[in-house]
Amino acid sequence: MSTKFTFQGTRIRLSTDFAGGGLTRVEETAPNVFDCWPYLAEEYCDGFFSLRSLDGPGDTRDGANFSFLFRLDGCLNQTVTLRIHVVHERLKADDVSVVYANPDFPVVSDDGDHWERVPRKRLLGGSGLADERIVVAEHSCRQDTLWVSYQYPYTTDRLRRFADRLAGSPFVRVESAGRSTEGRDIPLLSITDPAVPPAAKQAAWFTGLQHCAELGAGWGIEGMAEFLVSDGPLAAVARRKYEFKLIPIVNVDAVAEGRGRIHRSGRNLNREWERPDPVIDVGSIRQTLDAWRAQGRAVDTFVDLHGFSTRDGTWTAPVLPPGNFSPAQAQRYERLLACIKQQFPQIRYDSFESVGLAAGAAVRTYGALGLSIDGWVFKYAGGQPPDLATHYTGGQKVLPLPEIKAAAVRLVQAWVDFAG
Ligand SMILES: [Zn+2]
Repeated sequence: MSTKFTFQGTRIRLSTDFAGGGLTRVEETAPNVFDCWPYLAEEYCDGFFSLRSLDGPGDTRDGANFSFLFRLDGCLNQTVTLRIHVVHERLKADDVSVVYANPDFPVVSDDGDHWERVPRKRLLGGSGLADERIVVAEHSCRQDTLWVSYQYPYTTDRLRRFADRLAGSPFVRVESAGRSTEGRDIPLLSITDPAVPPAAKQAAWFTGLQHCAELGAGWGIEGMAEFLVSDGPLAAVARRKYEFKLIPIVNVDAVAEGRGRIHRSGRNLNREWERPDPVIDVGSIRQTLDAWRAQGRAVDTFVDLHGFSTRDGTWTAPVLPPGNFSPAQAQRYERLLACIKQQFPQIRYDSFESVGLAAGAAVRTYGALGLSIDGWVFKYAGGQPPDLATHYTGGQKVLPLPEIKAAAVRLVQAWVDFAG
């Protein structure tokens, strides 16, 4: 179903008809009061939102859509009330919902580029569904246009503008990692010091936004790239030691279409990497990795970045058990994990075979030191799970963009430390 539409309200027009825009349904229940539903219609059933599991037995479908991005026009000097209908809490405590993805929604922007949270918020009971709550946010508009999103949106347009900006750097090649199901280019940023021959450096691959509502991963990779092209000794060392191969957005179709986690095929892209017949997007990136190997280049390290932290702000990293590595490799893997841990003391490593996941394929198919990192979202709360009663309303809980960028620099530092 389409997530693209324009809705003419009494005074304000709401539109999702642009790259990255998406919302399922809107109603204006009083002038300038907009009830918004991010979920797909088929996800409402049996008196609940039927959030589909990402990991159910044999379930290769993607999880529920819950991201949203829309634009209001005609709102200069007006106050808008956004009533956003969400799942409050799943019956299973570990389930992912918009609540855990970002309790700080919505975020707003006057220009589509600079984002801020909305401090005036409250939480109401649902309007019928058992697990539904309504986050009510009020905002006084300073411009005629206001962008509203569930989290700082990392869109295909943003990536294209960023890649164009980097293209002038002598250290950057803007390449293609492949094509999507809908024929979109999947940008690949190669960053290195071209004066150092390939044999004298490692290849460090990073992917983001397979699950395209996990937006922090896109910002994180952009932060890495921005730092890697900058002046300064650390960036220069990183460029000499590595060729960085950065794919900020794997799931370009769903990002552009504003479909949240949903890929057109209904499949979860991060379960496709070891299938004989993966979705086009993943197959296309695998061909790029194959071609890289055919040139005699190694995939030394491979990190697949995701954008959910646990509720207490911990970053989790599924790492592959030692049986996947030769003894020498296992030692290097331990050292890599130690270097990451030094920069991210709060990271939690979980042993996970990662069958079908990008990290699993990186290790078993391409011989890489591979892992996933899930983070970039919550501020670290020191192990204290948030009180759900104040979860939506109790102050900023999401990393501001500058902190995401700072974390990206720490990731580069970990790789430089690892190279020794
Ligand atoms: Zn994910």
